[in-house]
Amino acid sequence: MKDCLFCKIIAGEIPGNKVFENDKVFAFRDINPQAPVHGLIVPKKHMDNILQCDAETAAALTEAVGEVARLEGVDESGFRVISNCGRDGAQSVNHLHVHLLGGVQLTEKMN
Ligand code: AMP
Repeated sequence: MKDCLFCKIIAGEIPGNKVFENDKVFAFRDINPQAPVHGLIVPKKHMDNILQCDAETAAALTEAVGEVARLEGVDESGFRVISNCGRDGAQSVNHLHVHLLGGVQLTEKMN
C-alpha cells in the first residue's frame, strides 16, 4: 500500500534488518528494540491490524513466530508476542505486525 512504512520495507524501498522471509511473511528487527531480541513479523499483504487478519495469514504469522524465535535463539528460553491494535492498543504503524520480545526475563506486567 502506498505510503505504508512496512509495505516499503517489504518491497526493499526502505532498509530493514531482515530475519526471515517466505511467500506470505516478512520479519525484521525493530529499529527501537525494547528487549535484546525484538522482531517484527508482518504479512506481505497489507492489512491494517489484527481485525483484518484472515485464517491463512494468522497461520503464516504463527509459523513465522516459531521460525524467528529459533533464528534469534530464544525458542528454548522463551519470549512474548504482542500485536498492538488501534488507538488504545498504542498501534503506531497501521500494517498488521506481531512483536516478538525476548532475550531477557520479561516482567509479568504487560501494560
Ligand atoms: P506498534 O507501536 O505496535 O505499531 O509498533 C511499531 C513498531 O515499529 C515500533 O516498535 C517501532 O519501533 C517500529 N519501527 C518503526 N519504524 C521502523 C523501521 N523503519 N524499521 C524497523 N522498525 C520500525
